[in-house]
Amino acid sequence: MAAPVGGEGLQSCGVDLNNRDVAGYSQQTRVATTERTGSICAPASGSAPTLTDTNNTSAAPWIVDFADGSREMRDLLGGKGANVAEMTRVLGAERVPGGFTITTAACSAYMNGDGSFPQGLEQQVAQALERLEVQAGKRLGDAADPLLVSVRSGARESMPGMLDTVLNLGLNDETVAGLARRSSNERFAWDSYRRFVQMFGNVVLGVAGERFEQAIAASKAARGVSLDTELDAEALRELTYEFQRFYDFPADPREQLSHAIRAVFDSWQGERAIAYRRINRIPDDWGTAVNIQQMVFGNLGESSGSGVAFSRDELTGAPEPSGDFLPNAQGEDVVSGVRTPRDIVELRSWLPDVHEQLMEILGTLERHYGDMQDTEFTVQDGRLYMLQTRNAKRPAQAAVRFAVDAVAEGLLEREQAIATIDPSTLDALLHPTFDPRADYAVVATGVAASPGAAKGEIVLSAAAAVQAAAEGREVILVRSFTEADDVAGFHAAKGILTSEGGKASHAALVARGMGRPAVTGASAVEVDLAAGEVRIGEHVLAAGERIAIDGSLGKITLEDVPLVEPQVSGQFQTVLGWCDELRSLGVRANADTPADVEKGIELGAEGVGLCRTEHMFLGERQPLMAAVIMAEDDAARASAIEQLRPLQESDFEQILRALDGRPVTVRLLDPPLHEFLPHPADLPEGSPARKRVEQLQESNPMLGTRGVRLGLLFPELYEMQVRALFAAAARTPGARIEVMVPLVAYERELELTRSLIERVASEHAHDDYLIGTMIELPRACFQADQIARDADFFSFGTNDLTQTALGFSRDDIEGRVLARYIDVKILDRSPFETLDTPGVGQMVRMGAWLGRKTKPELKLGVCGEHGGDPDSIDFLHHSGIDSSPALHIAYRSHVWQPRRRLSAAAGRTCSAHQSLARLACRRLAAGVKRCCSTRPDRPRKGSARLRRCSRADARRMRYLE
Ligand code: PEP
Ligand code: MG
Repeated sequence: MAAPVGGEGLQSCGVDLNNRDVAGYSQQTRVATTERTGSICAPASGSAPTLTDTNNTSAAPWIVDFADGSREMRDLLGGKGANVAEMTRVLGAERVPGGFTITTAACSAYMNGDGSFPQGLEQQVAQALERLEVQAGKRLGDAADPLLVSVRSGARESMPGMLDTVLNLGLNDETVAGLARRSSNERFAWDSYRRFVQMFGNVVLGVAGERFEQAIAASKAARGVSLDTELDAEALRELTYEFQRFYDFPADPREQLSHAIRAVFDSWQGERAIAYRRINRIPDDWGTAVNIQQMVFGNLGESSGSGVAFSRDELTGAPEPSGDFLPNAQGEDVVSGVRTPRDIVELRSWLPDVHEQLMEILGTLERHYGDMQDTEFTVQDGRLYMLQTRNAKRPAQAAVRFAVDAVAEGLLEREQAIATIDPSTLDALLHPTFDPRADYAVVATGVAASPGAAKGEIVLSAAAAVQAAAEGREVILVRSFTEADDVAGFHAAKGILTSEGGKASHAALVARGMGRPAVTGASAVEVDLAAGEVRIGEHVLAAGERIAIDGSLGKITLEDVPLVEPQVSGQFQTVLGWCDELRSLGVRANADTPADVEKGIELGAEGVGLCRTEHMFLGERQPLMAAVIMAEDDAARASAIEQLRPLQESDFEQILRALDGRPVTVRLLDPPLHEFLPHPADLPEGSPARKRVEQLQESNPMLGTRGVRLGLLFPELYEMQVRALFAAAARTPGARIEVMVPLVAYERELELTRSLIERVASEHAHDDYLIGTMIELPRACFQADQIARDADFFSFGTNDLTQTALGFSRDDIEGRVLARYIDVKILDRSPFETLDTPGVGQMVRMGAWLGRKTKPELKLGVCGEHGGDPDSIDFLHHSGIDSSPALHIAYRSHVWQPRRRLSAAAGRTCSAHQSLARLACRRLAAGVKRCCSTRPDRPRKGSARLRRCSRADARRMRYLE
């Protein structure tokens, strides 16, 4: 919710998800006693509190062993920690390497303190390590048989690649020899040590990654080999020592561990993690957990490997598992995209037993979680270990397909299946694709990594993508492979193309998460950053030249292929149909033209909740409207109005026919006068027209002559509109009209306008109508009981209500104030996007309550932008007014903007397109909100009070509108 930080945020479903007091873990203590550079000491027995040490109250418990955790503890253990713990229970300890999780609360305490570990953490880590050593039968730092661990971050919500990970911790010059002896594999031991020194230097101490890569490249060149795997033990040993000269490498494994934990904590505050959180609206104060797990090795030789596997096709949702793996590799190699991985089906021919076990495990996990799973595995000497599982992030079409299949297979009930779909991703279902009938030359193909097609200028860096987007240019980000630092570029680009990587590469994961089309692993694409060009076969393309990709087909072309709008699939219709059966909220579309009405109905709208009539007086009709306003006398005005009436009548008639008996709420003219008038500077100086326009200028037009005031000052205008509407209705069998009066503050305003409407209506042979008002001013909320006397319905205009309640001009705030407010945590997002529930939301509730007090049968609706926002729908659903079957949520497809933008045809098309996506989203959101209580384990994105979006995000919102 767009609540002030520290304010009384709304508790959705009675559950405050910000409350960290989970399973008895309460407030952290802020005590700073430890040296910043301290190491985890072996524990003095009984000196530190443990999870079960209830007598010791001096420090909070900061650690949970995998064996003691569960998926319900996600807030505390992070997604990874909670799922590893759950998986240990479900699959058995022999399948999941042992370990423990340092809680997110410890990270918060660290962040809130002075950079020291919170009190008791080091002792607790030492004790947990001791337990792990007992379980593993190995000791950290043991020169004969060392325990090695991974140290991995894991936030409450997955942040792929954003936080830090260190593998093979525990190696030094002594333990590497022990590892070599125990594994009888010298090369493996030095490969692991080399990786560790590299990762530690890069991740923990910030040594630039290129320094290591350059050294590796030089070593390969000196030996005349091209792959890392071709470097022998001696080469790896030399590299390891070379890397150690890049920084002061700590040989003591406990010191290494202490540094690594600190690095993971610090990575939460790193630039890329902050950028990711802002884009994905993850609260800053959640912190990350740290998972310390016994290492298993995928780089132990040809019967070892690492991979990622999805329980179903991660792109389409089809029931066949999918994924990638690499023999003789560690997990990071698979997801980094540096080596092109092999498809999971090839695992069957490589290691058939492992393949069979993996397929069985994927099924078990999917059934257990009731959701599609995304897992990481390692094969060590032919033995399969599962390292991680989580609900798979997937494109909207895969989510929809999974939901439908899961119900058909009896895996989930409808309500549960609906709750697996994130309504905000549905936009992606309306991504265009290359026109299948188009004839074009494909210059390269790659992995179809994220669906949808995109065209644009080539940019070679994230910074260039961001800059281009700010300038309004459409770009495709072309890279060899992407890294976490490229995320801002993903956001800015229309599509992503990489020459390396597969379906599970960083580029693919992030693009899917963001709904950007992506083609990865297009090996024919050669990116030459130094030359600033991309070479594809004989084509040499400079940055700025155009390229097109289709992420559903994996195709790349240089031609301007036409894109086609997607068709709504049968499966999507099925899911929406379920939502319609389950939801109690009515859903209507916003539409001002017959074409928009038809599209809305096609997507399931039950009628039109807001028809903005001012949109009918723009473009070529604007001079007629200007003539009405500028008329010097009654006769001139009457004649101008008479010219408008037939146009208006035909608009209404077409809309009513398209509605075919469904209701439409027609709003009488609302905008300020100046929206229709020419700019004074465009008129000859001293001319009567200029004088009149100058006379009509207002210093604050949004608070000036608009809404019902316009109707009271120019009653002929409203009379003309009502006459046109009723005449059209009288000619359209089954027409159901609701006449809506905007911007009412005083009950008398509505009383007078109602009598005008009734008088004109009585002249026509149409009596199926209602008269109502928008509630969009604070006074109207407080006086709703009075206003309800003359209203058959209320429609809450939450755009204007937000504007007037907060005193923010919606056209200006997003460009100026919002970014700063978000930066300093006054707001977490635009109140024009998500309802400010503590303020505006309470006014809505009061208006609804007072209105119904006077008139229990009063129909209630919402027609502001918030009607298309899942979080706001959540509030409406839980605010007591949703029990009415009459509540309708209408989406405004056009943000009210300066006239020139409204009249632009392109803007209209774009808005209509967005509105369709929102309409579907609304239907689904209304259904999902009904179902959310069936999935208490699912983190509910919209419920957090503190959600932030970046400056860039704010700009983008403005730009999109
Ligand atoms: C509103 O104020 O919420 C509304 C729907 O009207 P408009 O945005 O057109 O002012
Ligand atoms: Mg309004």
